[in-house]
Amino acid sequence: MLDDKDRIFKNLYGLHDWGLEGARKRGSWDGTKAILDKGRDAIVNEVKASGLRGRGGAGFPTGVKWSFMPKTVGDRPHYLVVNADESEPGTCKDREILRNDPHLLVEGCLIAGRAMGCTAGYIYVRGEFIRERQRLQAAIDQAYEAKLLGKDNINGYDFDLYVHHGAGAYICGEEMALLESLEGKKGQPRLKPPFPANMGLYGCPTTVNNVESIAVVPDIMRRGGAWFAGIGRPNNTGTKLYCISGHVERPCTVEETLGVPLRELIETHCGGVRGGWDNLLAVIPGGSSMPLIPAGPTGCDDLLMDFDGCAKHKSALGTAAVIVMDKSTDIIRAMARISYFYKHESCGQCTPCREGMGWMWRVLTRMAEGRAQRREIDMLFDVTKQIEGHTICAFGDGAAWPVQGLLRHFRPEIERRIDEYVRNSDSRGAVREPTQVAAE
Ligand code: SF4
Repeated sequence: MLDDKDRIFKNLYGLHDWGLEGARKRGSWDGTKAILDKGRDAIVNEVKASGLRGRGGAGFPTGVKWSFMPKTVGDRPHYLVVNADESEPGTCKDREILRNDPHLLVEGCLIAGRAMGCTAGYIYVRGEFIRERQRLQAAIDQAYEAKLLGKDNINGYDFDLYVHHGAGAYICGEEMALLESLEGKKGQPRLKPPFPANMGLYGCPTTVNNVESIAVVPDIMRRGGAWFAGIGRPNNTGTKLYCISGHVERPCTVEETLGVPLRELIETHCGGVRGGWDNLLAVIPGGSSMPLIPAGPTGCDDLLMDFDGCAKHKSALGTAAVIVMDKSTDIIRAMARISYFYKHESCGQCTPCREGMGWMWRVLTRMAEGRAQRREIDMLFDVTKQIEGHTICAFGDGAAWPVQGLLRHFRPEIERRIDEYVRNSDSRGAVREPTQVAAE
């Protein structure tokens, strides 16, 4: 369990003053100039030493990502872009930072900007986050007023910070679509390469980071990379905001040690699974685009909530948004509903994604009722494989994985429903669909 002294997000629940004065009392903006004076390489090396991995879903090491930016600033300015789109279903952590501790992010932007030679940062906030955007803007205004940001600020590094809000499209959380949207275009992902570090916002070197990744940087710089690296386990270091929703007694967002066992996380902070641990059916560990992990000794019982722990169970930590499903869940319908979401949010550029999403949703909807053939189970798996890795962006993968998770762990349930549907058709004397007969 996370020690209180190691907590970074001390105002996660908004119980204290979110403003500059309150943030200063919690340690923000303390010795920022000294941190910036250490210089670019020192900051990047400290973040590398901390082992911080991106908190937005992919888990790429933050310090390494920063080191991809050109070492010297040429005729194109460098930009930092912060992804505050947070549209992944189940995920509700970045909004708490924006609402209740925005100065963590503002100071983090300045330090990250210094580490990459950026002259400006843009924070792209999800369209629906009206209050969060206002709060963030107010915090930035406070920082400007106190001369912590902007030209000739007291920290000795000129840096401007802008807030931009989207219009609520899920795909704008994908970094290339986000950049397109920021440039005023339709939010559709661009092909990579070129990568943003070479050609990002307005064709200039850019790094896109998640809110939480940036918000922990000031603490890493003040307390040292070794302190952060000492929390958790190798390759999975530091603290993490987990958002637990679904069938638990008290859904919540909480900061915990990376690698906390799932059961401990749920029982300590959420009052346990509704109806007890034995009533658990499955969890999705990292937002709706990750494969589910079933209950039981080879699943949730020994699940450690970090990158390697989830990978061991053929899933991923993603955004650490834990969606808990108890035995009352119709798991096939749940996955069909998730597929519907992805069908709705596909930007439509790639054929496998545009066509495959609707295909998966329609088949899963029939399967939830049992109105399918057994051979369609393999066909559905094949379709997910045709989508995975064959699209411009990772959206296709993220939509295919939950379906793969369902087929991997709940195939007998799908078969049972198909068989039951056929039996009921017989007993009602109804004419069975020719497809059903052929499947027997
Ligand atoms: Fe658009 Fe889907 Fe292709 Fe991504 S994978 S670019 S969302 S069509």
